[in-house]
Amino acid sequence: MTPPAATHVTPDGRRVVVAAAVERGGRLLAARRTRPESLVGRWELPGGKIEPGEEPSAALVRELREELAVDVEVVGRVPGPLGGDWPLDDSSVLRVLRVRIERGEPDPALAHDEIRWLGPRETRDVDWLDADSAPAAAAGARLDTWVDFPAGAVEGSGVVTVVAPMADDRVAVVVDRTPFHPLDHGWPDQPGDTGLLDGRPVLDSLTGALDDEGRLLVDAEIDVRRGDPGRTWVVAHVLATADAPAVGDVVALSVDRDRRTSFSRGHSACHLAALALNETTARFWSKEPSRRDSRGFPFLDQIAIQVSRIEPDGAYDAYRAGKSLRKAGFDAAAFLAEREAIAAEANALLAAWVARGAVSRVDTGGDPTLTARRTWFCDVPGGPAVIPCGGTHVADIASLGPVRVAYQPSDEGFEVLTSVG
Ligand SMILES: [Zn+2]
Repeated sequence: MTPPAATHVTPDGRRVVVAAAVERGGRLLAARRTRPESLVGRWELPGGKIEPGEEPSAALVRELREELAVDVEVVGRVPGPLGGDWPLDDSSVLRVLRVRIERGEPDPALAHDEIRWLGPRETRDVDWLDADSAPAAAAGARLDTWVDFPAGAVEGSGVVTVVAPMADDRVAVVVDRTPFHPLDHGWPDQPGDTGLLDGRPVLDSLTGALDDEGRLLVDAEIDVRRGDPGRTWVVAHVLATADAPAVGDVVALSVDRDRRTSFSRGHSACHLAALALNETTARFWSKEPSRRDSRGFPFLDQIAIQVSRIEPDGAYDAYRAGKSLRKAGFDAAAFLAEREAIAAEANALLAAWVARGAVSRVDTGGDPTLTARRTWFCDVPGGPAVIPCGGTHVADIASLGPVRVAYQPSDEGFEVLTSVG
């Protein structure tokens, strides 16, 4: 009988030491050593030795529980040059695994004297152990892209991390940080920004997901749900192949400002129209709805939405009003019979909101990454609007000018056409 393959040594007999690239909110954890004397004050990716018979990921989970008092999930690997591992010394190699914290807050005092969370441009700011320096830089390049569009930014600069060929003589360029808003692959409501990358035309911006091998899938090619921790979530700036920059280049990023503004106007108006729809159709519900909006009205928009398309200075939304909506208690036939009067009510509400003005902003919860859970907040009369949203918005709804909606029946239910200005 052959014994099971040992997991704590490589096929050529070198001992495997596991280390963690702990990622959270687009940052990488670094921990400062307190021993031995020769390494005091230097920084490491936390981890340790694999016990005989122990799986590498189980060893890392155990080590991080002991060293930092956190429960982690291993979500991937930072591949190195030695058959996927990184050089450590003559008799051992370092295997770097990507992990997310499931429970607990890292305790900096158990086995270290300080921990730091490093952003993508800070991974070279600490004095790493010699063996941890290269894998830490590689782990830093695998952090999710930081995005500045939620705050309304249209200018920025980025360090190029990936350049990947696409079909049709185009190339996808990934940077560590960008103001470009990409099309969402799961809910493609707002088109991706266009603009310039170091003076080269950015033809489109798409959501991208990098796997452990560094393979970039974009838009419809992505085969996992948005935010899956096993991937690195990035903005793919689509350029003509001849325009491709090189990995490591620092590039200026400039979004087409007028086009962005027209989509921000369309997006804010789309959400206001949804609130007005919820409010003016509340009387057509005969049962308690499954969801109410942040202002207390039945959330018809979220319950029945099928397609949402943000347009320049407008929006198109399609809703399904079939058997299940009727069962849920909404009388779509009665609403549609009165649709012109209801639209007039909604337009009066919208006019009053815009005339009064209200700050509109996107809350990121402090998470700068592309797949953070963001919400649109707007302090409209009768209670603030709080709606999950991945898009861009105007800063004050007073800037919109007239916002008008029209309701029309469709084969599946009804459609809402929103126009601004
Ligand atoms: Zn939205």
